[in-house]
Amino acid sequence: MSYREEVLNRVITENPRQPEFHQAVREVMESLGPVIDANEAFYRREAILERLTTPDRQIQFRVTWVDDQGNVRVNNGYRIQFNNAIGPYKGGIRLHPTVNRSVMRFLAFEQIFKNSLTGLPIGGAKGGSDFDPKGKSDREVMLFCQSFMSELYKYIGADVDVPAGDIGTGAREIGYLYGTYKRLTGRYEGVLTGKGLTYGGSLVRTEATGYGVIYILEEMLKHHGNDIEGKTIAVSGAGNVATYTIQKAQQLGAKVVTCSDSTGWIYDPEGIDVALLKDVKEVRRARLTEYAAARPSAQYHEGKGVWSIPVDIALPCATQNELDLEDAKMLVNNGVIAVVEGANMPTTIEATKYFQANKVLFIPGKAGNAGGVATSALEMSQNSERLSWSFEEVDSKLQGIMKNIYQQVSGAAKEYGKPEDFVTGANIAGFLKVTTAMHAQGIY
Ligand code: NDP
Repeated sequence: MSYREEVLNRVITENPRQPEFHQAVREVMESLGPVIDANEAFYRREAILERLTTPDRQIQFRVTWVDDQGNVRVNNGYRIQFNNAIGPYKGGIRLHPTVNRSVMRFLAFEQIFKNSLTGLPIGGAKGGSDFDPKGKSDREVMLFCQSFMSELYKYIGADVDVPAGDIGTGAREIGYLYGTYKRLTGRYEGVLTGKGLTYGGSLVRTEATGYGVIYILEEMLKHHGNDIEGKTIAVSGAGNVATYTIQKAQQLGAKVVTCSDSTGWIYDPEGIDVALLKDVKEVRRARLTEYAAARPSAQYHEGKGVWSIPVDIALPCATQNELDLEDAKMLVNNGVIAVVEGANMPTTIEATKYFQANKVLFIPGKAGNAGGVATSALEMSQNSERLSWSFEEVDSKLQGIMKNIYQQVSGAAKEYGKPEDFVTGANIAGFLKVTTAMHAQGIY
């Protein structure tokens, strides 16, 4: 059995019932063949893969709060500090009923590689809770966030661990979390990113993940003699990543004809109206049925189906494992040429392999959505120097970072004998930087 297989088996045995974590580790282990197998004795002796797949630290805590009816409610809170070889821990906080240890670990593990690819000094972490902000009043969300931070603050800091937003954690939640941290510690520091512009946030952070998806897509298409203008695109999700992915794609002349939420999806052949989408999701916090009600060209469908529409490009921006083999077959039959993951691990391993076997250009989430965390790192830089950069300055840095990620990913794929396999390229490029730093810092 190869060293990579041994470590994967160990991860599965030691962490039973954690399918998402197994999936994320499996994908990385499969990719690392060209690096590890050529030098197996060294990696085995140094136990590099065991160290890489075992988190530095996992924190789990009770979050107790009181709802509007006066009932005491209890949720689970998590922070997984996975690896800080190249910088302070960095990764978002997810608030969603599906959050559990497996989801937290897979996200924190992916974050190590993603953060490495940005070229910026940030390590990998993730946190969250099974609390569902949907349907809660602002006051309930505030009380939850205050309780969550009253435990988390012990483990984070501007040079230690810097959380950010993710599913269910937007500007409102970051504000409540930041206020509580400041009150508990007395420190006004860049301990969270995604902050509001009046208290240390960065311009472009809101748009960054979605814009980054389109910047890397553009770069990839350019290297294949193509471009985004005039293309028809399917996007899933209707949250932060989906909204700004759609906005930038349309600014660059593409037509995005779908979006979705956890209950259904929209087909809008005229192109998604971003202002209306923002009003429905960001302001009214309502369902997509309200988008369809306000837009005569749009059809609303209950359940799954966003990948059944014929498009040139597919951009999954909702959640993990939302695009499976059947979806991939439909997209390929309908002539899709490129897929960039805006969400984390939205495509199953089988679907990813099917795309690659059918010559669809495929960029994995750890490269495709890295623009969000990269801009968070730019927010940390601005906080450290007590300055704010202009929109153009941050946007131009983001564009440079996404181009650089494409070059690293395609360069590593070529160098290790898998040209055009950007999954392998992303994993190898991310791995080499982190493990070189781990090796240099000694055994711990
Ligand atoms: P949001 O909470 O803003 O939006 C998530 C969207 O996905 C919502 O429209 C939600 O529907 C939908 N959704 C959630 N679960 C499901 C599901 N099971 N099936 C179908 N739709 C679902 O989150 P973000 O946009 O921030 O995050 C989306 C993805 O991008 C996640 O994988 C996240 O980890 C990743 N990501 C986010 C970054 C960021 O900067 N925000 C950075 C990098 C990655 P509904 O409206 O009904 O809740």
